[in-house]
Amino acid sequence: MRLAQRVNRLGTETAFEVLATVKQLEAEGRSIISFAIGEPDFDTPQNIKDAGCRAIQNNETHYGPSAGIMPLREAIAKYISETRNISVKPEHVVVTPGAKPIIFHGILACVDPGDEVIYPNPGFPIYESMINFVGAKPVPLPLVEEKNFSFDVQQLRSLVTEKTKMIIINSPQNPTGGVLSKEDLEAVAELAIEHDLWVISDEIYSRLVFDGEFRSITAIPGMQERTIIIDGFSKTYAMTGWRLGYGVMNEKLAETVARLETNSESCTATFTQWAGIEALTGPQDRAEAMAAEFRRRRDLIVEGLNQIEGITCCKPGGAFYVYPNVTGACKRLGLADSREFQRYLLYEAGVAVLARTCFGKRNQGEDQEYVRLSYATSTEQIQEGLARIKKAVER
Ligand code: PLP
Repeated sequence: MRLAQRVNRLGTETAFEVLATVKQLEAEGRSIISFAIGEPDFDTPQNIKDAGCRAIQNNETHYGPSAGIMPLREAIAKYISETRNISVKPEHVVVTPGAKPIIFHGILACVDPGDEVIYPNPGFPIYESMINFVGAKPVPLPLVEEKNFSFDVQQLRSLVTEKTKMIIINSPQNPTGGVLSKEDLEAVAELAIEHDLWVISDEIYSRLVFDGEFRSITAIPGMQERTIIIDGFSKTYAMTGWRLGYGVMNEKLAETVARLETNSESCTATFTQWAGIEALTGPQDRAEAMAAEFRRRRDLIVEGLNQIEGITCCKPGGAFYVYPNVTGACKRLGLADSREFQRYLLYEAGVAVLARTCFGKRNQGEDQEYVRLSYATSTEQIQEGLARIKKAVER
């Protein structure tokens, strides 16, 4: 039996494969400190869990509208209006099971075969996968260490052709933790307006900005109507398993994305959406405490990594990832690249990290080695993990 050709173009998120290996090694009795998976180690705040349970008891267990229940769309519209300084109506909002479907459906709705889409590299692997899947050409935009993992504006300009249809940005960023500056956002906006491009602005880590305020490209005049904001509940409220996210976009596109929802998921689980309303409109102290804790851990892990021979790590502005340069460590250990380093740390030190290659192919001329560590794990685990890496690298 033959599968459709398009599935050959589908990529994946290797973090889930590493997670499976970690679970297997643990089942064999190995002790593994995992910095591999990008999800908060905290539990969902109690008031949100209670709201979800209440909704089930109240029989909010039926089909709902494909774009999401109106009270949640209203709450999201209010929240996005206030935090992005723009005017959002509920009709601009599409609620989905997690933020990921907005990447899938947003690209499906806006990009034709043969179009070109510029996306960050290293970056969240689903962008490249989906661009390929719809038959478009992925055009990687290198993020460079010297610019704190932002991009070179001239280089971005040089990548735009008459076939370019969309630019994807992600700030704060996975895997680097980089945050785009006002000037970077303005450069993207200028190009998007000049060439009439869509922008996907993946803002899933918007509540995890540690130095200064979060900035959205949609606040720049002319950008709201051409931008799809991606946000959700997974990272801010530790709700990864609830599957609740959303997109904010112009009304016509929102209707199209909702129709794609009708054709795929029908709707997002109704009781989950009631929990989402509590998350957005209830007390924010737990979310704020989690963000403060992530910031503390960032400082701890950056300091610890910089004390290891052959590893240098710049301080990222957001998310819960660090992306250290491990070129020196690879050389010391006689390892060819970050993939070998990932394997070495897992099997020799019992530490799980993700190699640079989990986030896209090496850019042209890229000669340094990197790994991503998610510090969404306890202080004790971070300290133990750092000690193990140090011992294994400096042996
Ligand atoms: N966008 C980025 C940049 C992410 O890192 C993730 C999750 O890791 C997502 C989107 C997907 O979020 P969700 O779990 O809500 O689908």
